[in-house]
Amino acid sequence: MISISPENFIILVVDDISHNLSVIGSVLEEAGYDTTFAASGAQALERLENISPDLVLLDLMMPGMNGLEVCQIVKSQSKWSNLPVIFLTAIPEKEALLQAFEQGAVDYITKPFHPPELLARVGLHLELKNTRDRLHQSLQEQARLTTALEKLAHLDPLTEVWNRRYFEEVAQREFTRSQRYQRLFSVLMLDIDYFKKINDTYGHLVGDEVLKALVKVSLDSLRKTDHLGRFGGEEFIALLPETNRNTALEIAERLRKAIAQIIVPHETDLIQITVSIGVTTYHPSDGQFKNILARSDNALYAAKNQGRNRVVEG
Ligand code: GH3
Ligand code: MG
Ligand code: MG
Repeated sequence: MISISPENFIILVVDDISHNLSVIGSVLEEAGYDTTFAASGAQALERLENISPDLVLLDLMMPGMNGLEVCQIVKSQSKWSNLPVIFLTAIPEKEALLQAFEQGAVDYITKPFHPPELLARVGLHLELKNTRDRLHQSLQEQARLTTALEKLAHLDPLTEVWNRRYFEEVAQREFTRSQRYQRLFSVLMLDIDYFKKINDTYGHLVGDEVLKALVKVSLDSLRKTDHLGRFGGEEFIALLPETNRNTALEIAERLRKAIAQIIVPHETDLIQITVSIGVTTYHPSDGQFKNILARSDNALYAAKNQGRNRVVEG
């Protein structure tokens, strides 16, 4: 059962004999299709360009550019590669018909035309194309959703930087790359000082705003190629590819100062924060990424012990 609406489709009929055009045209129009006509191959290409029909009925034998040549041109263009082309042919042209299928024709109709057969074939191919287009669309949509979901699964919902699990995946890749190609990278482990006091004083939602403000400023201070992740509640971690110890220390210091400039207004108060940062750099003797993590963590702990609001290397 064909379930398309003919009025939604334009069919291009190509034939050098005008009688054929009018016969096929009236059959299609009576069935509700929109039609457009061409009396030569060259005219057919022009119609295709200007009208973008949904299906082509193409006479195989025409003077000048014949149907095969037209079909070959049509199928060589990616914008028309899915356009159904049905050949119109007389019985003795079987040889040429084989070539037509090789050129990408989907079907053929023999002259003289039998209107119900003509309509059945046209309807089926339009429906097939419709189904294929919808399938293609839904596959594209599915791919888009999968990508979006994957991305979402990698993000911390509050701050939208990498979550800890994904950050560790990224870090592991960077670690392996550094081992293999003798590259280096640095890690900044960063924790807000006395954050609990902010929550206790202003409430958790205001605390959340502070976390978001910190992320925004951090992303502005870091480079596009750096990775920022949320490691725990108010603890963040940055991985800086191709960054040596001195540069990492400079970046950490710059970041510390930028964060100290953050002001989150709340009622009559202006909330400010500081951070302590532990900095480490990959060393070829680091057997695993978690050794680097442990060193950054120790450095961060030292920064806290030394009075907070400072950068310490580990
Ligand atoms: P220190 O200087 O030693 O780091 O002190 P601190 O108060 O920052 O550290 P502590 O670990 O005692 O407190 C961390 C606080 O962070 C406690 C917790 O309620 C808060 N926190 C963790 N996750 C979130 C969050 O998603 N939102 C908010 N608003 N607060 C959070
Ligand atoms: Mg803290
Ligand atoms: Mg903490």
